[in-house]
Amino acid sequence: MQDLGTIGNVRLSGFELGPFATNAYVLSNESECAVIDCPYEPAELIEYVQRKGFTPSQLILTHAHCDHIGGLAEFRKAFPKCTIRIHAAEAGFLEDPEQNLSAFLGQPVSVAEADGFLNDGETLDLAGAKWNVLHTPGHSPGGITLHAPALGVALVGDALFAGSIGRTDFPHSDFDTLAHSIRMRLYTLDEATRIFPGHGPPSTIGKERRSNPFVRGT
Ligand SMILES: [Zn+2]
Ligand SMILES: [Zn+2]
Repeated sequence: MQDLGTIGNVRLSGFELGPFATNAYVLSNESECAVIDCPYEPAELIEYVQRKGFTPSQLILTHAHCDHIGGLAEFRKAFPKCTIRIHAAEAGFLEDPEQNLSAFLGQPVSVAEADGFLNDGETLDLAGAKWNVLHTPGHSPGGITLHAPALGVALVGDALFAGSIGRTDFPHSDFDTLAHSIRMRLYTLDEATRIFPGHGPPSTIGKERRSNPFVRGT
């Protein structure tokens, strides 16, 4: 667990989990807890949440690639009342090893469908803060970013990394779509916005807009 600090009233904890070193995040305040993504080998995250005495009310998936959903069966067992949601463009992916790419990795993941679907422009209440759902496809068709303007924080999934971007060589990926998402939806955020990606360390919008070698700001 990496304590990423308390921003506003929200405590942000990061967990790098599983064989693909996938980041999951736990957002919490005194009374509420939400989880972002659920990688393979989620025991450390589940134990942390239980030890803190939290009851997560929502698990939001940035997208349905297997490295972000591989721990869902274990998570559901631990927190059966938690609502799991994903962007509507990836309906069916959780159950389908071809769509969630797990079929190609020899460790097929097929888990029950999400409890609900998200769309661009929705606002979620997570750990007492407002998070806007930004559809940021390209790495995957239903990739989302969760942006909390009041906190200056964006959880960007696998769209944008510190010094890199998400892979676009998968069957349903598209570089031009991803570059458009990054330029129009992410680089347009306030440059002080801190980004927390699905892999690797945090960065800021300003730093990536100026120096990301894969998608330059305009
Ligand atoms: Zn991915
Ligand atoms: Zn990933």
